[in-house]
Amino acid sequence: MNEFALIEKYFQQPAKMDEAVKVGIGDDAAVLNIPKDQQLVVCVDTIVSGTHFFYDAPPASIAHQALAVNLSDMAAMGAKPCWFTLSLTLPNNDSAWLKEFSEGLFALANQYQLSLIGGDTTRGKRISVTIQVLGITPPGLEILRSGAKAHDKIYVTGTLGDSGLGYLLAQGAIKISSNADQQYISNRYFYTEPRVSVGEQLRDLATSCIDISDGLAADLSHILTASKKGAIIYTEKLPLSLALKNSLDKKMAIEMALSYGDDYELCFTVPAERQIEVEQIVNACKVPCTCIGEITEMGGLQIIGDDNKPLHLDHLGWEHFTDEQK
Ligand code: ADP
Ligand code: MG
Repeated sequence: MNEFALIEKYFQQPAKMDEAVKVGIGDDAAVLNIPKDQQLVVCVDTIVSGTHFFYDAPPASIAHQALAVNLSDMAAMGAKPCWFTLSLTLPNNDSAWLKEFSEGLFALANQYQLSLIGGDTTRGKRISVTIQVLGITPPGLEILRSGAKAHDKIYVTGTLGDSGLGYLLAQGAIKISSNADQQYISNRYFYTEPRVSVGEQLRDLATSCIDISDGLAADLSHILTASKKGAIIYTEKLPLSLALKNSLDKKMAIEMALSYGDDYELCFTVPAERQIEVEQIVNACKVPCTCIGEITEMGGLQIIGDDNKPLHLDHLGWEHFTDEQK
């Protein structure tokens, strides 16, 4: 099948009721009518086989992940995702693979009524998936990394460390005896749930926000650098899933929660006097949000262990290009 037939078969969706898309797939470029009085918010992320996912990962999970990491960036900005483009590099055009890939892609895209408006398809040795998401926010309501103030409370959504464990599980580096725990952990790694609704609700509330892609310690540090502030967080407050606690000893579970990547939960800061509003978001979005500490005037990131003593991590977070990988 040639490139055009392939795009048409797997990626051209019946026209959606999306008045903003004046021209979608099929011309040299897409044309969008951005809703009046909204800002455009744009992000892009690439995932490559062997670096970000296993060669033999389920195609639906690869598509899900490529879109989910971008939706997570939109959530961290407080943006509503609306449209996306897809650039795909493949070693061959394997119909079965493409079918599963496009099903996984549209399963997630349809959940948020996102329209695929264009892309590019090329041949290459490794599978590479680049997705760009375009979203909107009302003017001035984007949430940046730089707005945290001293005494703000620090929150995280969901639970931390599950994806780190899921990665080790997928690698065959560890075993989980309970089937239910194994299923839960594997799902958390392969099918990230981006916190889009929480992000939108935080627009008027959070002073700063980031999505946790490289581990809590590393990503919270980005907020601190951008905001020129410090923070104190407590390991006993870190939200850990039952499955993680069942599978690892306490010390390992905490290390996983602090410094392993791919959680795609949100870490955000809120003025202390507005904490009650976080509870309202938890109820509206059905996503738990846990207060893990607070912003300080200075002092970098201080982590207080369960023994009430400062904890030092030898490894702050996940980096995609370590020396061995370069
Ligand atoms: P051009 O040569 O102008 O770049 P292409 O042949 O690459 O055009 O693409 C033709 C049309 O198909 C364009 O509208 C493009 O956006 C769309 N397209 C190509 N690849 C994909 C893809 N993987 N997903 C969605 N749309 C795609
Ligand atoms: Mg092209």
